[in-house]
Amino acid sequence: MSHVFHRSARSVPPLALSAEGSFILGADGRRYLDACGGAAVSCIGHGRDEVAEAIAAQARGLAYAHTGFFTSAPAEELADLLVAGAPAGIDKVYFVLSGSEAVETALKMAHQYHRERGEPARRHVISRWQSYHGNTLGALAAGGNRGRRTAYQDLLVEMHHIPPCYPYRGMAQGESAEEYGRRAADDLERAILDIGPETVSAFIAETVVGATLGAVAPAPGYFSRIREICDRYGVLLILDEVMCGMGRTGHLHACLAEGVAPDVMTLAKGLGAGYLPLGAVLVSGRVHQAFADGSGGFLHGQTFCGHPVACAGALATQTIVRREGLVECVRAEEPFLEGLLRDAFAQHPHVGDIRGRGYFWALELVEDRDSKAPFPAGARLAARVKAEAQQLGLLCYPGSGTVDGQVGDHVLLAPPYTATRGELEQMVSLLGETFDTVFD
Ligand code: PMP
Repeated sequence: MSHVFHRSARSVPPLALSAEGSFILGADGRRYLDACGGAAVSCIGHGRDEVAEAIAAQARGLAYAHTGFFTSAPAEELADLLVAGAPAGIDKVYFVLSGSEAVETALKMAHQYHRERGEPARRHVISRWQSYHGNTLGALAAGGNRGRRTAYQDLLVEMHHIPPCYPYRGMAQGESAEEYGRRAADDLERAILDIGPETVSAFIAETVVGATLGAVAPAPGYFSRIREICDRYGVLLILDEVMCGMGRTGHLHACLAEGVAPDVMTLAKGLGAGYLPLGAVLVSGRVHQAFADGSGGFLHGQTFCGHPVACAGALATQTIVRREGLVECVRAEEPFLEGLLRDAFAQHPHVGDIRGRGYFWALELVEDRDSKAPFPAGARLAARVKAEAQQLGLLCYPGSGTVDGQVGDHVLLAPPYTATRGELEQMVSLLGETFDTVFD
């Protein structure tokens, strides 16, 4: 009998024993091909000695020093590295331990930023429906996944939501992608004007939407228009790259491909690649300066902020990513993975859309391709795909936004950047077998 409070209150998942490269070994003797890195986490593959050794060395030398008293060498070095590769204007890094904490931190930072500048009326946050920003209460309130929000509605502070930029379902007949991008971005301006521009603090969005919609990249020009609108009304732009950042899309940060620099950006998952939990908030020099010129400090902080061992693990991870040219490799191999998916599923009667960037791809599953009608929520399709795939030794990440019938189920693939072509082929082939069983 297990005393762990598992995700399912009715069953205990298989025991994971060890992991190497693209595989996790179960105590059941099976090798599971990790096509999703858990939740787009394990980007350098499992079992890298160099990271384990960096973690052990840091734990021996300096396991913990509270950030109220000290900084640490790995936090300083990692911040230097992150700022060096960041979009224009980013100058500071605030370390936390998870994506949800990074989002909470970003929202609070935006709130205090406006107070520091003498605009305390700016308290409204705008985000998008069908987004996911984390499960803590502030992040959940920002998120637009109705399924995850419903049970906690009474605890959520009011935030404002606009429709996502979601070409597969949002683009009108005869509209170009650029026209759609502009139209979708203009929803933000309308919301700001409705709420009252002098009361809006921040707009938060995932650059490429992950968990809730499944690898949805923005329409061309969408984020440059969003940037213009934020600037026009003094609203901070927070990009949540917890899932799509750190090389996942074939760019170190997904926003670099959009030519857009946020004021604040959240990271986690691939930053530490799962060796230890670590999240980060990248902050523009302009935002930081408001704190320096104002009260002098951010009214925030948690016991394990900037944990030296977590930073040392992430530093070793990011050193590997750079030394092995893994982001460049993801970009170069993107057409190979896309080709495999299109060859296997472009004609599949229940695959409505194949979309993604880099090593971040999703298949949207529909009951009917012509009408794009999703499967009914009660069919629990994404969950069934996940379970069936695991039976076949494949780990893929399910997603469903079906609560209101507006969004289909999807399955997300986020393989390690180190996966071989043979492993990518095996992932796609096992996914095909999974669909054969589920849609039988
Ligand atoms: N933001 C995004 C875009 C995410 O995908 C996630 C996690 N799936 C989070 C925030 C929350 O991260 P965590 O689970 O580490 O708290």
